[in-house]
Amino acid sequence: MTAQTNETVIHAGQLLAEPGQPPKRGQSVRIAGDKIVAIADSFVDPPEGARLIELKNSFVLPGLIDCHVHLTAQLGPGYRLRLVEDSDPKTGLDGAYRARLTLAAGFTTVRDVGARKPEVIFALRAAVAEGKVPGPRILCVGATLSPTGGHAQIYGFRNDVCACVQSASGVCDGVDSCRKAVRAQVAQGADAIKFVATGGVLSDISAGVDQQFTTDEIRTIIETAHHLGRRVSAHAHGAAGINAALAAGVDSIEHGSFMDDESIRLFLEHNAFHTPTIIAGMTVLEMAREGGVLSAAQSEKAFTVGEHIKAALGRSYKAGVKISFGTDMGVGPHGRNAREFGYMVEAGMTNADAIKAATVSAAELLDRSELIGSIAPGKSADIIAVDGDPLSDISELERVTFVMARGVRDQVDA
Ligand SMILES: [Zn+2]
Repeated sequence: MTAQTNETVIHAGQLLAEPGQPPKRGQSVRIAGDKIVAIADSFVDPPEGARLIELKNSFVLPGLIDCHVHLTAQLGPGYRLRLVEDSDPKTGLDGAYRARLTLAAGFTTVRDVGARKPEVIFALRAAVAEGKVPGPRILCVGATLSPTGGHAQIYGFRNDVCACVQSASGVCDGVDSCRKAVRAQVAQGADAIKFVATGGVLSDISAGVDQQFTTDEIRTIIETAHHLGRRVSAHAHGAAGINAALAAGVDSIEHGSFMDDESIRLFLEHNAFHTPTIIAGMTVLEMAREGGVLSAAQSEKAFTVGEHIKAALGRSYKAGVKISFGTDMGVGPHGRNAREFGYMVEAGMTNADAIKAATVSAAELLDRSELIGSIAPGKSADIIAVDGDPLSDISELERVTFVMARGVRDQVDA
């Protein structure tokens, strides 16, 4: 019996090791444990005892990264009732199921940017990291920071029911309270901080999509998070909120629907990322048209925002703003994340740049470039494959045929 090593060799028909560079034909990737150790310019035989994974007829690329998901949520018919019916353990198990769908779709890292019950997402992050639950590596913000009456709160139930379902820990008003809220999320284990610079579509309140936190509060949140070594993302639709967050040094604007010329200037000046989440805009627009899921207050905002997100990406991309891939899944259906690529290309991105947004650029925004985003020695063995070339047909990424996360092959359903 041959002694098994923990080594694997992948033969890649085409290998896009570093998105942004051209792919190469006939490459081998050597993996030991959860790390990539070498890339060879030909098909090399695996060393004694190592496994061989034959992907000679496939296009191989780094595992995809989604910078904006909500694993503990799923919008759809009856979702408001589930807020009060589901226990926290049920929410966690649902999150585990969605993590599995996300991994099978080729996403080996996600950033969860807001959970109603932060301890649920922290537990899921740990279970995945320990290899007990299949899923993408999870970075998370804990609770989204919101002012009282702001976007990340829950509305429309009896007051005592609202109090029980909303995440109180993310609510802060005034600079002292905002500073403390950032520190509280970090103390609980947040990898990054997210706050609502403006209103949003899905809060069931007619409060528009303009600036919500004051400029002073925004500055305090960003400064406090940066002092603690955490990146900061701002949920923002209206231009005033986008610009206040950018001027204060935010690392990414999520959505960015109504950015103006000043926003573009600030994005470039501060080297900030735009995470468009077009699929979320399209999903809520469709729900508003069809009826049955969104309330009147939500639908009104969905009609306002919907298509604008795609136009916003066209604008930021053309101006040279750095783009990070994000879907806001939890709004749309988990596991369909790769549909976003098609929308990004419709907005004007090249296929190569859309792939870069979900690999190299996403890793940069997440401050994890040394670990993820490309296939290179020393990096995590996060590798996926598709049958055709996504540089000529971006929809190939919606049909992932092979997934390896941290050196472990996921058994993708046939
Ligand atoms: Zn979101």
